[in-house]
Amino acid sequence: MEFNTALLHGNFHGDEATGATLSPIYQSSAFGQKTAEQMEKIFQNKAPGFLYTRIGNPTTASFENRMTYLEGGIGSVAVSSGMAAITATFLNILRSGDEIISKTSVFGGTLDLWKDLENFGITVRFVDDLTEEELKRTVNEHTRAVFAETIGNPKLDVTDIESAAKLIHSYQLPLILDNTAATPYLVRGISLGADIIINSSSKYINGNSNSISGVITDSGNFVWTKERYPAMKDYVKFGKFAFLARLKNDTFRNIGCCISPMNAYYNSLGLETLGIRMERHCRNAERLAESLEGLEGIKSVHYPLLSSSPYHETAKKVFGEKGAGGIFTLRLYTKERAFAFINQLKYAVNVSNIGDTKTLVIHPASTIYAHSSKEEREKAGVYDDFIRVSAGIEQAEDLIEDFKQALAFVNERIPYLL
Ligand SMILES: *Cc1c(COP(=O)(O)O)cnc(C)c1O
Repeated sequence: MEFNTALLHGNFHGDEATGATLSPIYQSSAFGQKTAEQMEKIFQNKAPGFLYTRIGNPTTASFENRMTYLEGGIGSVAVSSGMAAITATFLNILRSGDEIISKTSVFGGTLDLWKDLENFGITVRFVDDLTEEELKRTVNEHTRAVFAETIGNPKLDVTDIESAAKLIHSYQLPLILDNTAATPYLVRGISLGADIIINSSSKYINGNSNSISGVITDSGNFVWTKERYPAMKDYVKFGKFAFLARLKNDTFRNIGCCISPMNAYYNSLGLETLGIRMERHCRNAERLAESLEGLEGIKSVHYPLLSSSPYHETAKKVFGEKGAGGIFTLRLYTKERAFAFINQLKYAVNVSNIGDTKTLVIHPASTIYAHSSKEEREKAGVYDDFIRVSAGIEQAEDLIEDFKQALAFVNERIPYLL
């Protein structure tokens, strides 16, 4: 099945009970069983069925199954947010004294979470890139996982998943990959060696910014041992399902980070058009970036497919001809100019998220990275004059005209020194 067909038919056959062509919204907290015997069986995982929406729900399960197919994993767990997905993944495998390695380019909220983990005795070591040298410098006997984003948000550095996974596996460590900015439309990380995939489905998967949620998809490929991962000791007997078994029976249900059935429904609906939207998001981002690069008053424009991008070759290798995501960034010399530019844009909405049908814009240094130090910000590619744009699916010509009028407005009023 090709991707656009899989979005509609992969692990999805409508509602078996009624023939409904969409998965109905089972907006119910609990599911009654006919007998106490049946209840006992389901509670003890000896029969399939649903009991309580914090633990599982049919609308959610339908969304999870579709995500599993698209990412090419053995199972998925949908949760209340992208941050909940990252949190639950790490709490599922780590305990005090463990260490993880993270790229410096990760999302601001993830950087904040790493600080929270320090309070539980977990150390995070940072690398700018997943190279042999960087891993040699940071891996030690306490290291338990490596974390990266397919496309760093907002640095837009592209991870060469295949070579990174090979390297990480040579240390017997799993690669946990945040695929939010790329989505399975651009790349299926598991097919290139990633072990666990995280998506903030609040973004492109939902597509319309109508609900917050996240998804964890496991490849089943990493071998978890009780010696190195004592938190998993009761679950290693499940073999390739060990990670998911602990997540479903323990971490996820005890934290209580379930998704609402309504939001799972919205996500399934959004998912069906992911392919045609992503095609347009990528094209619009590329066209806008191309038309702004080199204009007077713009210090730099970054989109991984531009030949000026240091990630140009990697983007081609990882994504082929499909594009490099819907985000591009620009620098305008000063914070004052960046603010005025944002204020002058007619279509782009000034909001903190990405992946909406509408074009979105933000000044990351004063918002998402407000809690980070100057050094952390610069490592993440965030500067005072820096703007992140999430290209929507509007007509490209209208967007180009809007960005050019905003630039002319700023150039006229706020001079800059070269
Ligand atoms: C938004 C985002 C997250 C967090 O997702 P939420 O759904 O907002 O919790 C994590 N990683 C990346 C790359 C993101 O863009």
